[in-house]
Amino acid sequence: MLIDLHTHTNLSDGQDSPEELILQARGAGLSVIAITDHDTVLGWQRLHNQRDRDSSTGVTIVPGAEISCRTPSGMSVHMLGYLFDPGSSALAEMMSLTRDDRIPRMQKIIGLLNGAGIDISFDDVVAHSGSAATVGRPHLADALVARGVVGTRNEAFAHYLHNDSPFYVGHFAPSPEEAISAIKTAGGVSVLAHGLAGSRGATYSLDEIESLARHGLDGVEVDHRDHDERARASLRELADAHGLFATGSSDYHGISVGHRLAMEVTAPEVWESILEQGKGCEVFTI
Ligand code: AMP
Ligand code: ZN
Ligand code: FE
Ligand code: FE
Repeated sequence: MLIDLHTHTNLSDGQDSPEELILQARGAGLSVIAITDHDTVLGWQRLHNQRDRDSSTGVTIVPGAEISCRTPSGMSVHMLGYLFDPGSSALAEMMSLTRDDRIPRMQKIIGLLNGAGIDISFDDVVAHSGSAATVGRPHLADALVARGVVGTRNEAFAHYLHNDSPFYVGHFAPSPEEAISAIKTAGGVSVLAHGLAGSRGATYSLDEIESLARHGLDGVEVDHRDHDERARASLRELADAHGLFATGSSDYHGISVGHRLAMEVTAPEVWESILEQGKGCEVFTI
């Protein structure tokens, strides 16, 4: 039973439509897939509208989102939420404010790139964000590739777009503690995404993650491609010590960016406990 609890569609910065993602999930042999687009629920909601009440053979879809957070010191943190009520006002408002502010934020990043002599426009980004509800740096990365400024998405991040780059601009973001509270108020389960992925920028210390656990954090993503063996071992130990869910997932954004569904997975007994705890909405199949 393969369970992947962190994936993106083209309603945020993934490359597959929700429908294509589910076809890929079937192909990968997944039994359970969470759709966790950045700051939006539109991807899984579109599939929910097509749900099959009688199906018992389809892939189980877990409603979720990845909330873009920032600490008071300015560090970027991603918080996964599962099985929350999407109509819960605090969480819906939080995601809406973030989505709105991503547009002026993108314009500021483009202004900084233009100032450094790089020829790129907001229209170029829009051409690559297509149907997305959240505009993000990966869309800008694709636009930079199309302009021939860099060769790949990863190269765009390495040269221009990483969190510590002079071209980095943040957007409105709740604190991780606020996101945990909003997810839990909405009946959901909160899991810290790629918490020790140092290649993306600064990360929490283990003590700080323990403090999130005291604020109600329910789990930590342990098995993630951006975690080395040491990071995984530390997070697993922390999860054991504090009774947190230890998950694993692909953080899939598309095949052409080198990601593979089920490249990391969550243990069935961990998934069963998350499912039991999530009270804000239900899983479904299409
Ligand atoms: P944004 O939400 O616009 O701040 O962009 C965040 C997204 O960019 C993440 O979810 C990843 O998909 C991607 N990303 C962040 N850092 C890197 C990196 N160093 N290399 C490649 N992709 C990255
Ligand atoms: Zn992403
Ligand atoms: Fe993330
Ligand atoms: Fe993600």
